[in-house]
Amino acid sequence: MILIDGKKTAGEIREELKKEIFQIKKENKKVPGLSVILIGDLAPSQIYVRMKEKAAIEVGLKSQIIKYPNDVEEKTVLDKINELNKNDNVSGILVQLPLPNHINKQKVIESISPLKDVDGFHPFNVGNLSSGNESIVPCTPLGCYLLIKKYEKNLSGKKAVIIGRSNLNGKPMTQLLLKENCTVTITHSKTKDLKRECLSADILVAAVGIPKLVKGDWIKKDSVVIDVGINKTDQGIVGDVDFEEVSKTAKAVTPVPGGVGPMTIACLLKNTIKCFKIVNF
Ligand code: NAD
Repeated sequence: MILIDGKKTAGEIREELKKEIFQIKKENKKVPGLSVILIGDLAPSQIYVRMKEKAAIEVGLKSQIIKYPNDVEEKTVLDKINELNKNDNVSGILVQLPLPNHINKQKVIESISPLKDVDGFHPFNVGNLSSGNESIVPCTPLGCYLLIKKYEKNLSGKKAVIIGRSNLNGKPMTQLLLKENCTVTITHSKTKDLKRECLSADILVAAVGIPKLVKGDWIKKDSVVIDVGINKTDQGIVGDVDFEEVSKTAKAVTPVPGGVGPMTIACLLKNTIKCFKIVNF
């Protein structure tokens, strides 16, 4: 079994980006900038934002975190996004989710300029992705896609099964694999006989949020298994895949942690550079 080392691949991506940013600074005398809006004091959100900032600074991006208390008015956030949209020094804007209930998530997403939408959630980017056009792709599925491509060069005609249909993971993942001519099945909480679906997969992507849902006897021999899940349990952080069992049958599996997680952050940096280039080149 091949361990799909997301940490290593993410490190390689960050090294490439570092060189690219160095070159951009030399030639354009400009530094691409990432602005992150953090609302409230949810511990996981604070951790994610700090990790994103650290990674951005390490590759040489300008990074700014704008913090608001949990009871901030929606208008204040929308006004700030509008200001960032107009600021030439800001290449990418990310609003850390989840948001407090009184703030309309979709309104916030749609207020971000699609050209600075590093999360790829704006309907403009979602539409372009599903039309097979150039777009900003959400960071986690982009990271999964890059890992899959590394271990399965020719995806054409392969059967891909995705567990989970979220806008964040499952749906964009489907579009990326369809573009590679995979035959894609998207499964969800109402799917009948999930095991049977999984057993047909050459490529299996689990983005569910249920610890160790995918068992060893759900896996087709020599398949590639990507585990998006990050689940806090008494045994620590585990994925949606029972790694011990699945690694006996699959050709290649991502571990949790050290698989998809680091790729998500590397792809955020990648998307920030992409946004910079769209505007400046
Ligand atoms: P979500 O809750 O938005 O979506 C979960 C999906 O799973 C839904 O479409 C639902 O229909 C489906 N589902 C639920 N129960 C099911 C079942 N029994 N069988 C089949 N499908 C079922 O979750 P999400 O935001 O897509 O996140 C999924 C997981 O990925 C979570 O563990 C989350 O923490 C993790 N995540 C990881 C990263 C990363 O960087 N690695 C990024 C985002 C999310």
